[in-house]
Amino acid sequence: MKNVALDILRFYLKQNGFRLTPQRKTILEVFLRIKGHKKMEELCEAVVKKDGAIGIATVYRTINLLKQCGLARENKMPNGKKFLEPSFQHEDHDHLICTLCGAIVEFHEPLIGKFQQDVAHKYRFSIYSHRLVISGLCQNCAD
Ligand SMILES: [Zn+2]
Ligand SMILES: [Zn+2]
Repeated sequence: MKNVALDILRFYLKQNGFRLTPQRKTILEVFLRIKGHKKMEELCEAVVKKDGAIGIATVYRTINLLKQCGLARENKMPNGKKFLEPSFQHEDHDHLICTLCGAIVEFHEPLIGKFQQDVAHKYRFSIYSHRLVISGLCQNCAD
């Protein structure tokens, strides 16, 4: 699975005149090991821990490339902060975010997919992507 991701990145880089450097490979590996959702700063920390020679700017640039070739997805929280997650072989889903403790819950509701198709049809729109973030309090925080 990871090798397929690596092939996708290598192909995308080649198409755009870039090379798959060892640094980019390391960043992809660290990124794919992410469980759940990570802030950019947390990812940078994990990369530097693995290889102290990799600069923060390189991490940012590489993550941008991962977003462009569809391996990474960036979501915006209600407070404007962003978090990252792998989007490769990861079912399309939406998020519930607790505004107090920052807990992020993923959910997948087929009805939302159907509903957005109806909306798109009504407005004669071709859907490219969608983002749905529901903010509120998780059960722990609401108690
Ligand atoms: Zn909470
Ligand atoms: Zn998610």
